[in-house]
Amino acid sequence: MALLKIVEPSMAPPALDRPRIAIGIDLGTTYSLVAVAKNGISEVLLDEIGRPLLPSVVRYLSGGGRKIGYPAKLDAVLDPCNTISSVKRFMGRSKADIQDLDTIPYHFVNTSGMVQLKTIDGVRSPIEISAEILVALRQRAEAALGKEIIGAVLTVPAYFDDAQRQATKDAARLAGLKVLRLLNEPTAASIAYGLDSGVQGLYAVYDLGGGTFDLSVLKFTHGVFEVLATVGDSMLGGDDFDHALYKYILHRMRLSMLPPQDIQALLDAVRVAKEILSTQDEALLDIKLSCSRRIMLTITESEFKTVIQSLVSRTLVLTRRALRNAQVIPGDFNGIVLVGGSTRIRSVRYAVEQYFGKVPLTDLDPDQVVALGAAIQADMLAGNRRDGNNWLLLDVIPLSLGLETMGGLVEKIIPRNSTIPVAKTQEFTTFKNGQSAIAIHVVQGERELVSDCRSLARFELRSIPPMTAGRARIQVTFQVDSDGLLSVSAREVQSGVQAEVIVKPSYGLNDNDITRMIKDGLSSSKCDMRSRALREAQITAQGLVYATNEALKADWELLDDAERIQIDTQLNALRAILNENDINRINKSMKALAAATEEFAARRMNQSIHSALASKKLDEIS
Ligand code: ADP
Ligand code: MG
Repeated sequence: MALLKIVEPSMAPPALDRPRIAIGIDLGTTYSLVAVAKNGISEVLLDEIGRPLLPSVVRYLSGGGRKIGYPAKLDAVLDPCNTISSVKRFMGRSKADIQDLDTIPYHFVNTSGMVQLKTIDGVRSPIEISAEILVALRQRAEAALGKEIIGAVLTVPAYFDDAQRQATKDAARLAGLKVLRLLNEPTAASIAYGLDSGVQGLYAVYDLGGGTFDLSVLKFTHGVFEVLATVGDSMLGGDDFDHALYKYILHRMRLSMLPPQDIQALLDAVRVAKEILSTQDEALLDIKLSCSRRIMLTITESEFKTVIQSLVSRTLVLTRRALRNAQVIPGDFNGIVLVGGSTRIRSVRYAVEQYFGKVPLTDLDPDQVVALGAAIQADMLAGNRRDGNNWLLLDVIPLSLGLETMGGLVEKIIPRNSTIPVAKTQEFTTFKNGQSAIAIHVVQGERELVSDCRSLARFELRSIPPMTAGRARIQVTFQVDSDGLLSVSAREVQSGVQAEVIVKPSYGLNDNDITRMIKDGLSSSKCDMRSRALREAQITAQGLVYATNEALKADWELLDDAERIQIDTQLNALRAILNENDINRINKSMKALAAATEEFAARRMNQSIHSALASKKLDEIS
């Protein structure tokens, strides 16, 4: 197979003296990161106080404000409905796709397409929420690099389908980032380990994060990565370890349940203990609960190992399945890459090592490895690598792509696990005499019936010249680009009529949607400014009321009755409207009070100067 140069033809040749900065972003379920590569060395960019991770959490506040990352995460207990975490699980998903809808605290809006969440600041789509996280990462990168960023490589799980990939691209676009390419997470991790510099090899990428587990089998040959198979469980990860340990502690304390305000406190403490047990043999748990109760106990690493044993076994069951799909055995692998914070757990590492009969690669930080690889890829795409080592990486499509045929059946055109980019053509014909149009319905999935698959797009091929049934030759071509995005075209061979769609899944956004959201963003920032100005006016007014009151108490004798009444009137007027939302009235009333107290203020000033002078000796006055 010919190797393909990764530099896009549409890109201008890079300027030699000015490196073009492109970043790599790991938009994770639990944490997100941004990294950049310089001279082939990749590093994660830190926030203003030196932290590499950004919790993937956004809290919406009334009046257009929002908190992102650590401050938002802290508010999750306080304001669960408006504090959105793990939004990645909703990307490109409809309500019907989400399994545990009842356990999620958010208010979902009734829509047929991608889920929408109702927040205190209006309805938000997962794309917009993800864009908030991406903006924070973009700003972090801009601040750290002090240069314009020409684009970004974003990573996605290997099993992400068309809708989920499109949603990720849309989020980046909304965040003002040019997407150079979407890259599968396991592929990114392999690049970070430089596995693409060898001649060939078979690698397993074991990714255990906060809420998800994925295992991918990658084959690297002749400068090309192929994802041979990928399996995942979107409900298995570090959070489940936390819950298992939480339940175990309640059991040990002989408690059946806790009041709601204590649940989060215990869960947080349990997570800290879990993380300590990755490097130490025991962890002390000491939590003050409400009603002056306290939990204090020590947990050992071996206890923890027993608690999570069945969860770890589940990852190995899935691993076995992936190897079966790829038709390989554990002994075939040249290397095992660990990804995800939960692979720091010693018993997880040990289980993986036992299964593959090989010590996994652990030199790189498992939470950072995906972003590091994405940055290397971004740097290559920006045209900064000149060592001839820039080849296109091949991935597979996770689900089969096909067409609806007679009787609601699916004809698969591109089978799942085909490497991309890929193009396939198949011929169809008309089934009625004189049929002048055919409807083409593109679907994705493994099932036989259209009703069991995901509908991606519909379009029509019209103006087919009248022919007897079965004579028309309609060639339908499916093409999947290197981001995993599909375009479909149909052509009647004899007449040459053709039609085409770029498959924008119904969950993706069209340009109008993007424009609307950008506009909404602008108007909400106007709204932000207005509510801030109001808040400031209210605070100033409160200060003025307080100061006037104090002055009246202190120096009432400086005023005559009429003056006092006049100031009181204005003071009461301001007090009455202080908490209203009318900034103009507040400002006007403040002015009126200031005017009424002008003379009083002048007299007080004179008096204080007078008494200050009076208390000093003459030689101190200059
Ligand atoms: P995701 O890919 O889901 O965004 P990460 O790869 O960042 O998530 O993994 C987050 C998970 O890793 C959390 O459950 C966290 O508690 C866990 N984790 C992080 N550090 C450690 C550690 N030292 N030991 C055990 N688990 C850890
Ligand atoms: Mg991850």
